[in-house]
Amino acid sequence: MNTTMRWGGWGDPDRAATLSDSIRGLLGQALGVEAPGAPIPADLPLEPCRIPADVLALLGDVSTSHADRLSHLRGKSTPDLLRIRSGDAADAPDAVARPDSHQGVLDLLAVAVEHRLAVVPFGGGTSVVGGLVADREGFAGVLAVDLSRMSRLVSLDPVSRTATFEPGVRGPEAERLLAEHGFTLGHFPQSFEYATLGGFAATRSSGQSSAGYGRFDELVVALRAATPTGTIEAGRAPRSAAGPDLRQLLLGSEGAFGILTELTVRIRPVPEVRHYEAWTFEDFSEGTAAMRAVAQDGPAPTVLRLSDEYETAIGLSRPGALGSGAGGCQLLIGFEGTADDVAARQSLAADRLRALGGGPLGTGPGDAWAAGRFAAPYLRDALLDAGALVETLETAGFWSTLPTVYETVREALVDALVEQDTPPLVLCHISHVYPTGASLYFTVTAAQGPDPLAQWDAAKRAASDALAAAGATITHHHAIGRDHKPWYADEVGPLGVAVLRAVKSTLDPTGILNPGVLIP
Ligand SMILES: Cc1cc2nc3c(=O)[nH]c(=O)nc-3n(C[C@H](O)[C@H](O)[C@H](O)COP(=O)(O)OP(=O)(O)OC[C@H]3O[C@@H](n4cnc5c(N)ncnc54)[C@H](O)[C@@H]3O)c2cc1C
Repeated sequence: MNTTMRWGGWGDPDRAATLSDSIRGLLGQALGVEAPGAPIPADLPLEPCRIPADVLALLGDVSTSHADRLSHLRGKSTPDLLRIRSGDAADAPDAVARPDSHQGVLDLLAVAVEHRLAVVPFGGGTSVVGGLVADREGFAGVLAVDLSRMSRLVSLDPVSRTATFEPGVRGPEAERLLAEHGFTLGHFPQSFEYATLGGFAATRSSGQSSAGYGRFDELVVALRAATPTGTIEAGRAPRSAAGPDLRQLLLGSEGAFGILTELTVRIRPVPEVRHYEAWTFEDFSEGTAAMRAVAQDGPAPTVLRLSDEYETAIGLSRPGALGSGAGGCQLLIGFEGTADDVAARQSLAADRLRALGGGPLGTGPGDAWAAGRFAAPYLRDALLDAGALVETLETAGFWSTLPTVYETVREALVDALVEQDTPPLVLCHISHVYPTGASLYFTVTAAQGPDPLAQWDAAKRAASDALAAAGATITHHHAIGRDHKPWYADEVGPLGVAVLRAVKSTLDPTGILNPGVLIP
């Protein structure tokens, strides 16, 4: 696999997806897609680097090359990609630094404070909320701090089952390093192949196996961050009563409070057996009730995902077989562990799901999902090429409010994107379950209008207003970035915003860290 991310799209350029004739037909007939979208340009011109040469010299090993600046331009949301396709490179950093130690990060921050540089911590660059775009006004330049050189496994404690990593290690490399010792982290978001542990922590990421392994913030037991005012460390024991948990203050802080330079995470033995299977339910509400029963009363699965009727019909959980979906609602359930444990939980779950109206579909769809679980993002580039607008959004709520959140967000998206009686395709699945609630994840496809950026902006606003009105959170795992700030401000209230600003002013008094991100 080519590990260098395609700058104008997703992932490994050698794995670019092509659309089947049936998908092209569906786009034309069902969505009214007529003309191709703007292509990814071969290159984009950049403004000259604004950081003066004498300041660059103080930053040490720093790059101002066109290729480096372009590959650190924004993240990977659809609006980010549409801006590239429209030829807009205005947010490119002026320079890219690649420190290789905690002290190296502290040194960079000292220069940035003194010479008024905005600093953007850069992990895998997969942010989908505008988390990699800094305000430029009032700054002498923007410096991306790429953490890819800090990607070591620092230590491993097999007794406590913890491992300490530097932040720039990507998902697959972390798994490879742990597997040498017989362990796994078990964190597999769809961006796994490119995103980093530092990015997971800074955004409170959640992986596809979160039912079994937990969210990333639940896996972090200790951390260290470099801030413009010094080093902060938190986490001496799994749990502590020593005041509020400062780990939680840094988790999800999106580079606005400090740069995470070390993370100690919980690890588990590599499972002996991985078993994924699918079930079908008559409709979304029956499937949701079954899912809730399993989430609340067990047996605890490792993976649990329920597609609504629309997502099931399209077959989105199996990108390789898109368009070959079925009726009803498909539930995916997976178990990992020792052979005996997996067999026992699988058999208990089967009894429970059958009693709740489920019909078994066997391991075929489960194995197909596991094989194609990181493939879907490649389809987005092909769909954008073809003239479709495609984007995702997510939220979470309590079980009692989830049906209302689902209905109102769906309705808001359809209303905002309906064109001449042609409704968009709005697909949804429930994943990331808890005893008290779950996350809803929507995938939206429509024909691109003349201004697809404005088109998505209107739809996203409508959906965000709808989910907030229904009492759900603006994000379950994508974080705040720039895009979610207005809804975040309402969610935490004026006093909450004041607390965030007070923390920011203590750790980053001159406001150089990711200005414009997170803090309303
Ligand atoms: C196709 C696709 C699929 C995705 N699937 C999922 C999914 O399944 N689950 C999920 O949770 N998310 C998902 N995401 C969102 C994204 O991958 C996550 O937010 C991820 O955690 C970001 O990691 P990263 O290393 O790419 O961070 P980046 O994108 O580089 O950075 C994210 C934010 O964190 C800050 N940051 C990065 N590293 C550090 C650090 N060391 N210290 C302080 N701040 C830092 C950045 O400044 C930025 O604000 C997906 C995104 C895409 C494009």
